[in-house]
Parts: sequence; C-alpha cells; structure tokens
Amino acid sequence: MSVRNSVKNVKPECFAKSQRKSFEYEEIKTLNTEDELTEFQQSLKSQGLHKKSEINGKWERIITYECEETKRGCKYVLIIRTSHDDLKSLITHRTCGHQHLNPKNSNLTKEIKALMSMYTHLPASRIQRKLKEAGLPILPKLQITNFLNRERKKKRESDAAENPVADVEIEHKRGRPKKISYK
Ligand SMILES: [Zn+2]
Repeated sequence: MSVRNSVKNVKPECFAKSQRKSFEYEEIKTLNTEDELTEFQQSLKSQGLHKKSEINGKWERIITYECEETKRGCKYVLIIRTSHDDLKSLITHRTCGHQHLNPKNSNLTKEIKALMSMYTHLPASRIQRKLKEAGLPILPKLQITNFLNRERKKKRESDAAENPVADVEIEHKRGRPKKISYK
C-alpha cells in the first residue's frame, strides 16, 4: 500500500521545488523622475518582460514585472517601487538572471519558424510531417503547439491593432486551402 501511495505522489511538477525556494533580490538603479521611469518601462518590453501587478501602497507604488518565459521556467522578476512622496523609483530585480538557456529553444531556428508560420492552421502532427519533408529537425508536438499558439495570439493582437502592415502579412498568410467549395 505504501508503495502505491508514493507512486501516486510522483507528478511531473518540475517547478514546484524551485518555486518554493526564496529568491535573492538586488537593487540595480534609482530613477529620479517620472520621465526616466516611463523610458525605463518602455525598455522592459524589449527585454521580454510584462507587467504582472501594480499595487498602490500607502507610501509607494509597487509595480512587478515578470518574464514572458515564466511558464517555461524563467524566474526573472523586476520590481519598481515609486515613492509617492518624491516620485523617485527604486529598481530591484531577482539575481537569478534572465538568460534563456533552455536548449529546446535553440531548435527553433529561423528556418523552422518560417515554415511553421506558414502552416499555423495545421495541427502539430501535420507540421511535423512538413518539417520532415523540408529536411528540417522534427520538433516535439508540444513545442510546435506552443509555437502555434503564440503565433495565433500575435495574429489576433495585430488584427485587433488594425495595423496596416500587419494586415498585409495576414493577407499573405491567409491561404487556408482546407475550405473546399466545389461548384
Ligand atoms: Zn526570462
């Protein structure tokens, strides 16, 4: 019985352990004006960080940014504390770093991305076949699905933004040959 129980407890929760461990933070800079803060926040987007929360405390506003890759294991977090009093902002971040050394990602070459973006309407198994046909490395289904979901999301977002450049791209990608309408 006890063996059974212990087997039951084995789950693929790779991150459970690392989430429990406490992270160290360090101060990286102080910003003196709101303009500097705005500029700094703009630069965070290009670093793949997005705003996770914003809390208005009694003395300060605390904005927390986290990495877009957090679901895939990056634990990088950056915190901006802006004093209500003098509007100075103290920037703190986790010392764990922000490099994505996930070796799986290195498989995602430009060639593979280009091919997969052409077939975002296909299921992962069909894309695996396309990769094989093109003589490219065959990625795991999960990785393909994740990529497709990201692409579709991007597409939806650019649709919503009504960006004329994005429209041209969508027009180009629209080729959905699966709608068979014989007359
Ligand atoms: Zn990261």
